[in-house]
Amino acid sequence: MSEPSIFTRIYNGEIPSEIIAQTENVFAIRDINPRAPVHLLVIPKTQEYRDVVELAAGDPDLLTEMIGLANTLAAEHADGDFRLVFNRGANAGQTVFHVHAHVLAGGLEERSL
Ligand code: 5GP
Repeated sequence: MSEPSIFTRIYNGEIPSEIIAQTENVFAIRDINPRAPVHLLVIPKTQEYRDVVELAAGDPDLLTEMIGLANTLAAEHADGDFRLVFNRGANAGQTVFHVHAHVLAGGLEERSL
C-alpha cells in the first residue's frame, strides 16, 4: 500500500482544505496556488490511479464522473465555461501523483494552446 497522497490526506481531514463538493467517488477543493480566477481541483477519492492515462484505461466511468463534477462546478463558480487540464508526468508539470483535474474558469485571458 502506498503512502497516502496529499489529496487523500485532505479528504481524510488530516490536512485542512475545504471540500467544496463531492459525488459518490469524486471530491473537489480549491487549488492552494490559483492560476485562474476560479481554479478548482477535481479528484477521485481513490488514489489508485496516478494520472489520467491510468485512469482512462482502468476506470473510464470514474473519469466521466470527474468531468461531470467539473461541469457542475464551472456552472456554480463561473459562467459554465471552463478549461480542464490534466498534467501527466513530471516533465509536463505533474507534482501530485494521484490523478486530478484542474478546472480553470471565470475570465480566462491567456492561453498557450
Ligand atoms: P499538478 O502540478 O500535480 O498537476 O497539480 C497539483 C496541484 O495541487 C497544484 O496546482 C498545487 O497548487 C495543488 N496543491 C498542492 N498541495 C496542495 C494543498 O495542500 N492544498 C490544495 N488546496 N492544493 C494543493
